[in-house]
Amino acid sequence: MSAPDFLPFTKPAIDDATIQGVVEVLRSGWITSGPQVKAFEARLSAHCGGRPVRAFNSGTCTMEIALRVAGIGPGHEVITTPLSWVATSNVILAVGARPVFVDIDPATRNIDLGRIEAAVTPATRAIMPVDLAGLPVDRDRLHALAKKHRLRVIEDAAQSYGSTWQGRNIGAFGDFVSFSFHPNKNVTSIEGGALVLNDEREATLAEQYRLQGVIRSGMDGMEVEIVGGKFNLTDVAARVGLGQLDRLAEFNARRHALARRYFAAFAAAGAEKLGLGLPPANFTDTNWHMFQVMLPEPRLKVPRAVVMEELKAAGIGSQVHYPAIHRFKLYRKLGWKDGDFPHAEYAGRNILTIPLFPAMADTDVDRVVGTLMTLLKRSLK
Ligand SMILES: *Cc1c(COP(=O)(O)O)cnc(C)c1O
Repeated sequence: MSAPDFLPFTKPAIDDATIQGVVEVLRSGWITSGPQVKAFEARLSAHCGGRPVRAFNSGTCTMEIALRVAGIGPGHEVITTPLSWVATSNVILAVGARPVFVDIDPATRNIDLGRIEAAVTPATRAIMPVDLAGLPVDRDRLHALAKKHRLRVIEDAAQSYGSTWQGRNIGAFGDFVSFSFHPNKNVTSIEGGALVLNDEREATLAEQYRLQGVIRSGMDGMEVEIVGGKFNLTDVAARVGLGQLDRLAEFNARRHALARRYFAAFAAAGAEKLGLGLPPANFTDTNWHMFQVMLPEPRLKVPRAVVMEELKAAGIGSQVHYPAIHRFKLYRKLGWKDGDFPHAEYAGRNILTIPLFPAMADTDVDRVVGTLMTLLKRSLK
């Protein structure tokens, strides 16, 4: 019997119709920002309750621009989670503000909303929560907190496009909402991002930050009032994104089915008795962007890297999302230290993303669970 193909932890699904659409854009004579970007923004806006949406060339710049539009900079603090892709806090530093980390709730792995008030100071301007793995932070509590302390909210919804809160799409309500369309996300534009804003004034300002601060008027009018960057999305990328949006519901339904199978297979294998931590079994709000297990550190004889190495040898990809941000050298230099956020640190050492993507077969889930359980049994003290 031949070995099964290597199963990556994720893989984008670009269909032939999208590829054909990209070919048409390439042949059209206009390949950078143009009609495809406009169409992409319109589709995203429809998903977000008709709110203004602007597309960018990454989720990272999208968050940075939200901070700039909110007027956040030197002397200001932004409350965020230490368990995220480092972009979340890097953009706070990039605008000259200071990230203020608040530990995670180990059950959801998202920022612990119950600890936010204690972190608010007169310098606090915004909360930037992250929907890790697509599981939304409690939006009712979040926005109530923000309102009470008169803070802006920049939702880092990079992972939660297609997730919902109380039946409403993430992005359709709130303050700023930032999405990423990196290839690992549930829908991709190769690289790309989008920002949901509150009104046309903010949207126009975001357009200025997107491209050199330029404002055009009439046939030949051009003015520059602020320093913008080079963050525009190409029409080629937007066409990929449009093809993906057509598949969102189908992709996410498949992700849900695979996640359900993971729960059933782990339960049948007695995973929790071995101490393996599973994500919240949420089938209402999340888009199941990732399936992340928590290795049982106190009982494990080998480091996580060995588990990953052995999974890889068995033809299974895995990944870490994420090491705790405050433990990076850059952040240590700014004053954070081990022990500051014990739940995020524990997750940073033990969380493991296992394969979940729409093109996976049911039998792939069974193989991942079987392999991981065999491996765990061998590796426990
Ligand atoms: C992917 C991601 C980002 C950044 O998105 P890019 O498009 O890669 O710039 C930010 N935050 C989180 C939580 C992400 O997962």
